[in-house]
Amino acid sequence: MVYCSKCGEKIPDDAYFCPKCGTKTDKGKTAKAAYPTDELRDAFYKVGIELERAFNIAAHETHSAIQRARENMQQKSAQREGIVCPNCKTKNPYGSIFCHSCGTRIAPTEESHGSA
Ligand SMILES: [Zn+2]
Ligand SMILES: [Zn+2]
Repeated sequence: MVYCSKCGEKIPDDAYFCPKCGTKTDKGKTAKAAYPTDELRDAFYKVGIELERAFNIAAHETHSAIQRARENMQQKSAQREGIVCPNCKTKNPYGSIFCHSCGTRIAPTEESHGSA
């Protein structure tokens, strides 16, 4: 075992860099070690995973944003076009609960508020 000249961390004899602070060890200096490419590759690999995850999240959020916008537009066009009665095909104003022509219920049943 050797000790880091900077932070005093115990370092394996064959280490070129202090695992704690990154300072080059005597061995690293004498070996004229290049930058720890394995660590770099590892770091890039991790960054790649993070990027991919970020992209996935972004894609997912973009997708749901588009979905929301689409639903919004559908709702707006429904407001503009009104509700077509499934029974007699009469167009009723948006917000109608019953068809003004045949009396069929055209609003979603969730309108009912129980005992009110
Ligand atoms: Zn150190
Ligand atoms: Zn009708």
